[in-house]
Amino acid sequence: MLRRTKIIATLGPSTDDPNMLDKIIQAGVDVVRLNFSHETPEVHRRRLEAVRQCAKASGRSIGAIADLQGPKIRLESFSEGQITLSEADKFILDAASPSDAGNQQRVGITYKQLPKDVRRGDTLLLDDGRIVLEVKDIADTQIHCEVIVGGTLSNCKGINRQGGGLSADALTYKDRADIASAAAMQVDYLAVSFPRSAEDIHEARQLLQAAGGKGGIIAKIERAEALANHEEIIEASDAIMVARGDLGVEIGDANLPPAQKLLIKKARDLNKVVITATQMMESMIENQIPTRAEVSDVANAVFDGTDAVMLSAETAAGKYPDKAVIAMARVCHEAEKQPMVRISDHRITTQFGRIDEAVAMATMYTANHLNITAIASLTESGSTPLWMSRINSGIPIFSLSRHKSTCSRVTLYRGVYPFEFEYFDGLDTLQVNQLMIDELLRRGAISEGDMVIITKGDLKGISGGTNLMKIVCVGDGSRLIKEDGNR
Ligand code: PGA
Ligand code: MN
Repeated sequence: MLRRTKIIATLGPSTDDPNMLDKIIQAGVDVVRLNFSHETPEVHRRRLEAVRQCAKASGRSIGAIADLQGPKIRLESFSEGQITLSEADKFILDAASPSDAGNQQRVGITYKQLPKDVRRGDTLLLDDGRIVLEVKDIADTQIHCEVIVGGTLSNCKGINRQGGGLSADALTYKDRADIASAAAMQVDYLAVSFPRSAEDIHEARQLLQAAGGKGGIIAKIERAEALANHEEIIEASDAIMVARGDLGVEIGDANLPPAQKLLIKKARDLNKVVITATQMMESMIENQIPTRAEVSDVANAVFDGTDAVMLSAETAAGKYPDKAVIAMARVCHEAEKQPMVRISDHRITTQFGRIDEAVAMATMYTANHLNITAIASLTESGSTPLWMSRINSGIPIFSLSRHKSTCSRVTLYRGVYPFEFEYFDGLDTLQVNQLMIDELLRRGAISEGDMVIITKGDLKGISGGTNLMKIVCVGDGSRLIKEDGNR
């Protein structure tokens, strides 16, 4: 049984060793994330090049996400590198303070508008909520706070306001430059950090396309406003990320589990892809095995219906990147055996809007109710496999495309496995069926005697042209396909 849930690994210093990169790819990484909050575009370009070589050597498609930093508000630096705050201390965030002169009384902030955005009584959360401040007063560039929860505070830690509502634009000057780099690298997806509305997503898409990029757009849901506007943001995007790190700080950790369920369901209902991210295997940054709670978290994301689970510091900066991937793969695999993720009542009562969509739905209904081994979908853009993969099933969806870009884009879709597939124009439909089946046989995906569903379009090379579903039985010897009597 193939694992359906996809694993995203964030690249970083810990995966720069070619041996380690090789190990995590062998362990089952489907998609890599280049985190533009760190390092230069040149470093990301080199890392992606190494991944592509690895993928080529192992004959696999591996997707790539460029993840923008966005308007993450951060502290500036302390002259001593760090300070320790205690409960009831007074502390000032000062937009006018020199960037490297933080001390026990005050520190600079990257977002100079912050004093205008906060109000007396607001709660500010530093370092993903580890340190909590209450705003007591605002005086020009200074935000006077009282420490509610203290601790050690070091350089460049993030700041969030509980409840959200900070006015920073989603796309910063740096993001705009990084979009151009991402386009030049031809990444499969661009992840937009801290979007507030569909408008932010449209803008990112326009910038990416203007720079020659063809990737899909991932909206990271990590602001309270984004959760409120989730429907329009999902519609505007190709995929969303349940970005639990920042979102949890803004809406409160206890509100995360229901938000995760809501976002995953909504994305699937709207035919969009969804990633569950952050702290999934957090303890494995230091340890060789995950905690029980982490195991449950990953499994529950699979039960919720996520397409992909993501590793952040576990792979980028952890001690055991390969072990984190192996543990994640093991947990996903086991969770996927549960009947609740293999049966489906998805869209039983809704109308379909398009012919290819209807073919995809009919295929999944049939596959789930007949003894089908595999689905083989010949696709230009990957849209038919996307529709199919919104439906719970245990049956693998093989996406056959002659376009490399389609192959690496579908790496993110749950239960979809890309094969690069070349065929000559001028073959008739039966010959193409035969070639598709040959390809699955060659890859060991099916064997003789299996029943397989093929989908494709009468007119080859037309995106959105899938209008045909065919059930074939893989025969033996000279004629591999017995056409079920209706040749
Ligand atoms: P980040 O986004 O890792 O870029 O902060 C994910 C999150 O906030 O959960
Ligand atoms: Mn974030």
